[in-house]
Amino acid sequence: MLNHEGKDSLSPLPGGLKFSILSSGSGGNSVYIEAGGKRILIDAGLSEKKLSQRIAHIDRSLNGLDAVFATHEHSDHIRGMGPLLRKHQLQLFTTEGTFKRAGPSMGTLPGFNPIRAGQPVEFGELVVEPYATPHDAEESVAFVIHYRGLRLGLATDLGKVTQEVTSKLQKLDALLIESNHDVDMLDAGPYPWVTKRRIKSDVGHLSNEACGELLSSVKHSGLRLVVLMHMSETNNYPELARITARQALGQDSPEMIIAEQNHPTPLMAL
Ligand SMILES: [Zn+2]
Ligand SMILES: [Zn+2]
Repeated sequence: MLNHEGKDSLSPLPGGLKFSILSSGSGGNSVYIEAGGKRILIDAGLSEKKLSQRIAHIDRSLNGLDAVFATHEHSDHIRGMGPLLRKHQLQLFTTEGTFKRAGPSMGTLPGFNPIRAGQPVEFGELVVEPYATPHDAEESVAFVIHYRGLRLGLATDLGKVTQEVTSKLQKLDALLIESNHDVDMLDAGPYPWVTKRRIKSDVGHLSNEACGELLSSVKHSGLRLVVLMHMSETNNYPELARITARQALGQDSPEMIIAEQNHPTPLMAL
């Protein structure tokens, strides 16, 4: 595990950039991040109650978050958003497109702050940079998080790897990357034909192979951690995804973990 007691390649800065994937997959997504005394949540695809339980596992709480971001309007990313924001009086940061689509299901919110791809949002030294993702949602984004020279990339819910995606994910210290399905398992699996077609499309989800290709194009000696995300429980096996990613990363590949649907990861620090 990456922490301050770990290898000497890790940052000696007190505090550093810390994060935990509270939930990942089509049943709900949420990522917690903190740095420099600021704390944010990206997506709230579980109920407020479940998110409270997950975040308590890492000795943190939903109270007093500085911001909650939404990547896009699909329910596995915003299911718990309205109640979460109202109960804890938190500010939502998302694109106008996501807000327009998600607004009705979220209800009245304490505050909405529009964001745009390419326009970073600063919370002290914690900087959240949205970038556009090709996905079947309106104005969907993913993020690169910056803190004192550290870079944490999030790349989930994208149907293909664009030039913008590849360029945003260079020189990362850690990458949380979608490895959604194995194409053969999806083809042979139980999903209806239209769903299979959507998942495989340029605005669907990254397969293990596509994840591997993206990893190949962004790997570098400074990449210390890869977290495989948004993994299908029906159309993938964790070991299959892990092998494909390892092959793409090659020798001296960074530490790798798989984010789970039903358990939060430990709080990890860069
Ligand atoms: Zn999703
Ligand atoms: Zn989605």
